[in-house]
Amino acid sequence: MKKILFYIIALFCIVFLIPSICTRQKRQMQKNEAAENISKENTVESNNEANYPKYDYTKFGTIKLYHSKTGEIEELPIDEYLYGVVSSEMPVKYEMEALKAQAVVARTYTIYQITHSNGKHNNADICDNYACCQAWISKEDRFAKWNELDAENNWKKIVNAVNSSQGKVITYNGDVIDAFFHSNSGGITETASNVWGGQNFPYLQNVETSGEDEYSEYNSEVELSKDELTNKLKEKHSEIEINYEENDVIKIIEFTESGRVKKIKFGNVEIAGTEARTILGLKSTNFNFEIRDNSVIFFVKGYGHGVGMSQTGADSLAKHGASYEEIIKHFYSNVEIINL
Ligand SMILES: [Zn+2]
Repeated sequence: MKKILFYIIALFCIVFLIPSICTRQKRQMQKNEAAENISKENTVESNNEANYPKYDYTKFGTIKLYHSKTGEIEELPIDEYLYGVVSSEMPVKYEMEALKAQAVVARTYTIYQITHSNGKHNNADICDNYACCQAWISKEDRFAKWNELDAENNWKKIVNAVNSSQGKVITYNGDVIDAFFHSNSGGITETASNVWGGQNFPYLQNVETSGEDEYSEYNSEVELSKDELTNKLKEKHSEIEINYEENDVIKIIEFTESGRVKKIKFGNVEIAGTEARTILGLKSTNFNFEIRDNSVIFFVKGYGHGVGMSQTGADSLAKHGASYEEIIKHFYSNVEIINL
């Protein structure tokens, strides 16, 4: 009787319990597999992010630099090129995080030029003229300009800023940005279309930064005799007539959203603020003026076109504890910093 009962229990196990356990195990296995697949997908995604396929850093291992003074093209490793850019574009005494921000901005700017310049420099990728691309200086020339005692340490600081941010670039919607920068924003940056016309970039907005007034680049003045002013303007606009006896003989007609001069009238001619800046040699388009007995004096705020990162602003933010990532995200709206 006991034997029969044993067989019945055994049979029950074979028919019902074991298959049910197996199925459960299979289900669990399937679940595990699915979970593994999801995590694999995630890994692929994050790998894509880490080795951004469009901008493989190895592709930019060496760059061809056009020397604007000699016309020579020099090939050099990108990081070595960046030491020359950072040491030329930003004072070495600035905070480490500001120098790192400058290194990432310069790297981003370089890669943008390589991928968008459309043969602007013939066979070269970029030039060493700050007014065209970004400034560059050789290590030898840089050392010659520094105090001998500080030179080694200064250079180490620059190398460290570039190396510790190696491969990092700024992107917006997955594309490397056109990372404009300038010296001092005068407290607020400018949008691109107000400087160069054309389109605006979504990542280049009017951004306010405090502390810029503590730098020598913030305030400047240009005083021109009335004759000098007329003559300078006449070189470009021969039809110009300025009668200083008239009311409002010089008048700012329109300001940009950031408070810079958009249009200004001199006598019978109206010109853009950017043109006035060039003709009169002003440090920025953020200016006002005063007509005196024999001269006109221009009071200027900030230094440079005002678009993108302000270097003194970057240093000021770093002094208040901002990291280079925070500095970059302050000046360029809604961007990512990725590793190439
Ligand atoms: Zn250039």
